[in-house]
Amino acid sequence: MRPFHNYQELLKAVEARGHRTRVLGYAPDRSPIVAVKVGGTKKPAIFISAGSHATEQAGVTAAVELMDRLQTEHEVYIVPVRDPIGLNGYRYALSLSLGQEPSIRSVGEAEALLRERGEVLLDKDDTLLVVLGEYGYSNRVLYNRFPKGDPILDPLRGRRVFFPSRAEDQEGAAPLERAYTLVVSLEGEVLHLNRFHDTPWAPSEVRCARLLMAEIQPGLTLDLHEHGGDAYWMSARHQRNDEDEKWEQEMAGEAVRAVTDSGSRIVDESYSPGSFFRKLQPGVFWLEAAVRGEGLNLVDYAAHTYGPAFTVETGMRLPFEERAQTSMRVAQAAIRVFGQRYA
Ligand SMILES: [Zn+2]
Repeated sequence: MRPFHNYQELLKAVEARGHRTRVLGYAPDRSPIVAVKVGGTKKPAIFISAGSHATEQAGVTAAVELMDRLQTEHEVYIVPVRDPIGLNGYRYALSLSLGQEPSIRSVGEAEALLRERGEVLLDKDDTLLVVLGEYGYSNRVLYNRFPKGDPILDPLRGRRVFFPSRAEDQEGAAPLERAYTLVVSLEGEVLHLNRFHDTPWAPSEVRCARLLMAEIQPGLTLDLHEHGGDAYWMSARHQRNDEDEKWEQEMAGEAVRAVTDSGSRIVDESYSPGSFFRKLQPGVFWLEAAVRGEGLNLVDYAAHTYGPAFTVETGMRLPFEERAQTSMRVAQAAIRVFGQRYA
């Protein structure tokens, strides 16, 4: 398994596998956000999503592979990419404002281009932020860099800000290979495409997922992500009732077992993903969205509204094949337990 070069290649691969895509809506560049339905006819349905953070490509490849590999009687809806623009890369993101892809070869060349063509909002301490066309562009991550409502961000409220992947050693996120999409909220907070799931104003990609979930009422939601480390972990959410929470824990336990049985590592005992997580069992953490702030992400929202839901986090420092395999194993294990619940 390998990362997709661009979104067009992914759509062709899905089609070549004989799957029909359903267009849920369009990203601002007119890329379709698609869902593929697989599995059986039994309800509740299962929802699998990936690619809201474009640097995290193992989940995207796994989502496409799962279209052919899942064995379940339940309906499964897979949205393999929630950010097609990001998948297409930083040059592509720039083309939305420049009219064509610039022939830049490095982040340094991108910075020179941004200073020349953009309206510079900030150029200080290695951070460059410009407005160009309808979008913001930066040279690095701005998440957690500005207080909410910082006047520097005023021209970008309601707009996306793209920054380039810049990892030398992570397959699928080489320099400029992806554009990570940030979204500045109407209140001037730097968020990203895995937020806004509970807000009336939301980017179109988010609304596509929200509308699909409202239609299928998923009994299990899996969102495939990656983190910067070299071991596996996942986040769960508190459930609306004891029965859901019991099955949530069983699915998580089985998922972690599938990872360790395969020979891959889960994060060690001392690991914590952040202050708003609480450890549930080895490799599994409750995420407390109310403590984190920023509104609800897809999995927060799914747990809040529909039922058991997990964010899957493979380690981007591992070989791509292992990351994608781990993502698939986790989904398959959780879905196996889900099937037992409704047997
Ligand atoms: Zn992510």
